[in-house]
Amino acid sequence: MNWDKFAPWAHKVVDWTQSYHNGISDLPVRAQTAPGAILNALPAIPPDGPEPVEQIFRDFEDIVMPGMTHWQHPRFFAYFNSNASPASVLAEFLAMALSPQCMLWQTSPAATEMETRMMDWLRQSIGLPDGYHGVIQDSASSATLAAVLTMREKALDWHGNTQGLPGQPTLRIYASSEVHTSVDRAIWISGVGQDNLVRVPIKGDWRGMDPDALDAAIEADKTAGLMPVGVILSVGGTGSGATDPVAACIDVAEKHGLYTHVDAAWAGSAMICPEYRDMWAGTEKADSIVFNPHKWLGVQFDCSAHFLKDPEHLVKTLAISPEYLKTHGAEGIINYSEWSVPLGRRFRALKIWFVLRTYGLEGLRDRLRNHINWGQKLHDRIAAEPDFEIVTSPMWSLFTFRYLRDGADLDDLNLALVNAVNDDGRIYLTQTRIDGALVIRFQAGQFDCTEHDVMMVHDVVTEIARGLA
Ligand SMILES: *Cc1c(COP(=O)(O)O)cnc(C)c1O
Repeated sequence: MNWDKFAPWAHKVVDWTQSYHNGISDLPVRAQTAPGAILNALPAIPPDGPEPVEQIFRDFEDIVMPGMTHWQHPRFFAYFNSNASPASVLAEFLAMALSPQCMLWQTSPAATEMETRMMDWLRQSIGLPDGYHGVIQDSASSATLAAVLTMREKALDWHGNTQGLPGQPTLRIYASSEVHTSVDRAIWISGVGQDNLVRVPIKGDWRGMDPDALDAAIEADKTAGLMPVGVILSVGGTGSGATDPVAACIDVAEKHGLYTHVDAAWAGSAMICPEYRDMWAGTEKADSIVFNPHKWLGVQFDCSAHFLKDPEHLVKTLAISPEYLKTHGAEGIINYSEWSVPLGRRFRALKIWFVLRTYGLEGLRDRLRNHINWGQKLHDRIAAEPDFEIVTSPMWSLFTFRYLRDGADLDDLNLALVNAVNDDGRIYLTQTRIDGALVIRFQAGQFDCTEHDVMMVHDVVTEIARGLA
């Protein structure tokens, strides 16, 4: 194929995209294929000669589509959503048409300067004060890794990068048991080591870190000659939406001079609605904050918004500029590759620009408020069923519940239920563990879902549960 032959196929892809989305509600949400089915349908050896695009396209429909889980399905209530609004998809088409590699200002000034402006739009949208600077990371995991490396290097006066960790004091980082596994991986990769991730006890309905226990843990480590370097806080944890008392924990961190990072990967999007900002009060004092517009805001994967109070610390930790990456003769420019672990970067700001302009903040707020209100309504209906119990109450649109049956092993029963629900295909839910118990987890956040879609969860779950052998 050359560019002269491109347009008819591109038109076909566009038409296909629209009809896919228009009919998506009729598809089973989770792929219904057995492991290995797609692998076996793909030839074991690569083609020697060219094949017609007609055939490739047919195989895409016949082989690939049955093996897809439909993340843009309005009844996707598993994990967290990864929304791709139509405006975002258009922007990505354009970004793909250009396919720039935006590592430096001069490798596409528009990408860099739009990133600066869009990150400031997002900063204002979620109510962070002036003075925060933002960068788009490929994932919250990357942002958290960058924050952990910054904690490490700031505490070691940037000697870790040069000398390595042997011979340095033992570094300690604090988080609750409810933080995402990306925190553990950042601790491993940074060389801090899992044993030095201190799990601070949680308390209360929000399953948040106990600030007094945090203070005591830091004091005890100092007494033992260890070196506390940072605190990682959770706002809207993945399992049940666990949220730390951010203000009180940051006060403790500040008292000890520790760097703070807030992981609000999912719930950060809710902060476009001013009424939810109380729930993360204190975040406006954090050194580093991440949230994923690619989850709830309709700006498709990948797009993680990382805000820094003082980007100098991060840049000093991550920037390397060999001669071949230097930009001579341009003052006051930003090279965002100095703010992230990967060097290469896609043009991600374009889709933020398209989405914020197409829907406006009010349009996005309406969607999120609906998800949260419908989630509450579904919670009330499930709570009213005598053979179901709510395990954790709604945090934004997320809650967990269990099916009860006398004499049954409830973990086995609920795992069987969630599997049966997903085999049925009308809705998609996942499980998690709360204090050791296996529970079913619900969250609403799909861009196009309706109240009817959310209420179907009650009908499908009760019907399937009561039919279980
Ligand atoms: C989704 C999620 C992450 C990981 O996000 P990636 O962008 O996939 O790395 C981290 N923390 C929380 C709380 C999340 O919900």
